Amino acid sequence: MTMPENMFDLTGKVALVTGGNSGLGFGFARGLARAGADVVIWGRRADRNATAAEALRAHGGRVLADSIDVTDDDAIEAGIARAVALFGRVDIVVANAGIAAQVPFVDMDRAAYRRLIDINLDGAVFTLRAAARHMMKRAAVGDAGGSLIICGSGSIFQGVPTLAHYGIAKGGLNALAKALAAELGPHGIRCNVIAPGFIETEMTFADPAVGEMIAASVAARAPLGRAGKPADLEGAVVYLASDMARYHTGDTLVIDGGKLFTN
Ligand code: NDP
Repeated sequence: MTMPENMFDLTGKVALVTGGNSGLGFGFARGLARAGADVVIWGRRADRNATAAEALRAHGGRVLADSIDVTDDDAIEAGIARAVALFGRVDIVVANAGIAAQVPFVDMDRAAYRRLIDINLDGAVFTLRAAARHMMKRAAVGDAGGSLIICGSGSIFQGVPTLAHYGIAKGGLNALAKALAAELGPHGIRCNVIAPGFIETEMTFADPAVGEMIAASVAARAPLGRAGKPADLEGAVVYLASDMARYHTGDTLVIDGGKLFTN
């Protein structure tokens, strides 16, 4: 296998980031673009997609922004086909799109439960399925490889009140990564999870006063002394996407300033 001098270099690779127009997704997309990848972002809001795409183009690669709702299976299939038609391939997928809607467990009706699971769990599952089908087809003609990256959360490891459905989705995705690592590894496809701690985004600052309060509490407890920012995750996603991670699959990287594993 010939390796480039800089094995973090993603030049020539195409990365898809769902929910890439905001927050963590935009940070993942920016990290991948800065490392040289061409980037495809999906999100429902066309205006936000356009703004994010313009910012990503500043890093020099090709960028496609597609208005895709990850609860729509046909749109997912069409979106992968469009990315392959335009850029020739998809090498990296970051399944990141998600929402958080707080509901006390005893009040959680099926509609609230389903809506979150449809986006956060099923949306990721069927995005990854569509991408894996494309990667398997490539592998069958001698062009094996692919990195599937799932955006997890601290809720994989710790209970969060009023977010049972959210934790179910992230826990399920964590198990999915291990299943895909086992099933797709023989085809050269890797799958890992990035589990971020509290990161300052529109999701966590939907109510700025609550966001500030949680950020202050995290800053007080995390050894690295602050809440996270989307840029803090760029290194992990570039590593997992790159050939530097060629023997790394089925794993979960916790990026939370050290909070989960310390007192
Ligand atoms: P944001 O609200 O900033 O971003 C959410 C993104 O998901 C947007 O780009 C949004 O775009 C997209 N999205 C939402 N629903 C859909 C859908 N149905 N189809 C396609 N795209 C969709 O939140 P964050 O960046 O904070 O969250 C992103 C991910 O990170 C989530 O999976 C979240 O669980 C996870 N996470 C966040 C943490 C944090 O502290 N912020 C911590 C750990 C994990 P649009 O609305 O245009 O569709």
